[in-house]
Amino acid sequence: MAEKASIKCPSCGTEVEKPKKTWPLIGRPARDGSRIKLMIGQFECPRCGRKFKVAVKKERIPPEGR
Ligand SMILES: [Zn+2]
Repeated sequence: MAEKASIKCPSCGTEVEKPKKTWPLIGRPARDGSRIKLMIGQFECPRCGRKFKVAVKKERIPPEGR
């Protein structure tokens, strides 16, 4: 089953189905070397036009093994 996040406009609460744009954002390494990779989505509300960013996906990247 695919996970479907429901993203809502922070101003008016309208559900925005798709981001206009997404890009990955990789966080700084934690103490154990693992990092958090976020997928940031830029959304624009079709109702009020508000633009906002939401992390649509979050995953943990294990430390680079050697
Ligand atoms: Zn809105």
